[in-house]
Amino acid sequence: MPRAAPGEGYERIAQVGEGTYGQVFKARAEKSGALVALKKIRMEAEKDGFPVTAMREIKLLQGLRHENVVRLWEMMVSKNSVYMVFEYMEHDLNGVLAHPSITFTPAHLKSLSAQLFSGLAYLHRRSVLHRDLKGSNILLSNAGVLKLADFGLARMYAKRRKGDYTNRVVTLWYKPLELLFGATQYGPEVDMWGAGCIFLELFTRRPAFQGNDEIHQVAVIYDVLGPLVPADEWPDAEKLPWYDLVRPAAASDGLAAQTAEERFKLAFEKSMPPAALAVAFALLRFDPARRASAAEALQMPYFTTERPRAQRPAGLLASVEGEWHEFESRRAARKARP
Ligand code: ADP
Ligand code: MG
Repeated sequence: MPRAAPGEGYERIAQVGEGTYGQVFKARAEKSGALVALKKIRMEAEKDGFPVTAMREIKLLQGLRHENVVRLWEMMVSKNSVYMVFEYMEHDLNGVLAHPSITFTPAHLKSLSAQLFSGLAYLHRRSVLHRDLKGSNILLSNAGVLKLADFGLARMYAKRRKGDYTNRVVTLWYKPLELLFGATQYGPEVDMWGAGCIFLELFTRRPAFQGNDEIHQVAVIYDVLGPLVPADEWPDAEKLPWYDLVRPAAASDGLAAQTAEERFKLAFEKSMPPAALAVAFALLRFDPARRASAAEALQMPYFTTERPRAQRPAGLLASVEGEWHEFESRRAARKARP
């Protein structure tokens, strides 16, 4: 891999991210002038050399090439730090959704979700689980292109048999029931639940299921989708290790007679057209075996036949003042507070 000369390859412009294991900077390549994002790998905490999570992220990303997956150009060593050098993306989804004057049209929303599912379909075809889908890990360019980023929790998975993986993955609000119930054998369906949450969030502009802890998270999901009835929709759920542990106390609230689909419609029909509702509902199935894959979602009428046609939000994003990542929008929110 090509390596820039220490301290002279890139000129730092600004910080754009503060992550779990390092800062992210916007920078310009001194020779080509290209903009890049430098993700600094935090080494202080590591006694035994290079951090495994970073190693995993680098290895996975090096094998991935897709329009909707962020491109890792190279690694760079400068002074005592190691950086991942990425193509630069002006915004992330959290920054953009928090911005009051960025309003997507229905055609934009269709394009963004199609790009999200295309990126995921590619990852899953290549046997990669992302395992940390959320707005801050989804990047957007001024050209209206969406890319999946942050492969710090990603891993390869076995397609033919169920692997045994850690369930300590995915940010709480985007966690599917199987992970909340403690499953360690899971597959790409965990990403598709998260994709369903983000799909809703694109329309409503707020995270769909905002729990405070694992038990509350299950309760919040049941509030919207109705409580899980294992016998009807997912018998194996009861076999999962934490099923009894995280079950909300009482689940009857007078609405129990409604089907999950009716309940769901009631909650979201004001925010999205029926064809989009059908996509969300197919992704937010409790039983992972019944949940739509990314490729299946892309074949639904919302994407194939329904009007309007998808359109990239290019002009819209290019016309906003500033660049909006979660980092800047948090800083702006702090400033605005009295
Ligand atoms: P962490 O694992 O620390 O969360 P991320 O890869 O998610 O690291 O990066 C942190 C933040 O930095 C992201 O939420 C995003 O706002 C910003 N960022 C990451 N990669 C890029 C990039 N290629 N271009 C522009 N901003 C980026
Ligand atoms: Mg991140």
